Amino acid sequence: MRRKLAAGNWKMNGTRAALDELAAMGAAAEGAAEILVCPPATLIAAAAQTAKGIAIGGQDCHPAQSGAHTGDLSAPMLADAGASYVILGHSERRADHGEDDQLIREKTRAAWDANLTAVVCVGETLDQREANNTLDIIGGQLAASIPDGATAHRLVVAYEPVWAIGTGKVPTMEQIGEVHGFIRARLERRFGAGVGRSTRLLYGGSVKPGNAAEIFAVPNVDGALVGGASLKAADFLPIIEALN
Ligand code: 13P
Repeated sequence: MRRKLAAGNWKMNGTRAALDELAAMGAAAEGAAEILVCPPATLIAAAAQTAKGIAIGGQDCHPAQSGAHTGDLSAPMLADAGASYVILGHSERRADHGEDDQLIREKTRAAWDANLTAVVCVGETLDQREANNTLDIIGGQLAASIPDGATAHRLVVAYEPVWAIGTGKVPTMEQIGEVHGFIRARLERRFGAGVGRSTRLLYGGSVKPGNAAEIFAVPNVDGALVGGASLKAADFLPIIEALN
């Protein structure tokens, strides 16, 4: 059984005032679905104290444990601050910071070494989809971004079509189902049926209260990675509810 996961990615949003929203999200903490919120790093320690029954995650980590890397944060630091997850390879990191699959693989390894669960993001651009390259791109990202030795406890895969992030555009349910089925098959082939079948796959990109139930009904969708609609409890709670 794969436990459903409602994950919020706050991106570069939120000051301490946002902890009130996090506390309000605790209303759903007793439900069947697991809740994860990834606030900006400045809020991780306070969020981990505030959030009862909500897992806290980082949005990135450096592949090294420590050292001369001004401005960076390591996986052990995230864990020490109270994080149990970290998002890696988000398309905004790939685009804004030139992150490639090999770097993401190293970061994922570092996350595992620090006992963090890695939420590894994959997704195609609009050009790649229109050129019918979606599955090739996703397959390549999966192969190169995920290290050997994945387990269902250490890994979550998020499918986030780049063109659906923050745009209000959502793929058809058939398109989501096709990619999620493909990711499932690839994980089974590489890591074995047990790991492949029990690893959770999230969809991300313009998930809102109004479309969540339809998306969650798609086979192999085990939850969502939600951006904008995870900032306010009034938006995130109905999305969590749709998973319960
Ligand atoms: P939106 O939900 O704002 O489209 O963002 C999705 C996302 O990038 C989550 O990581």
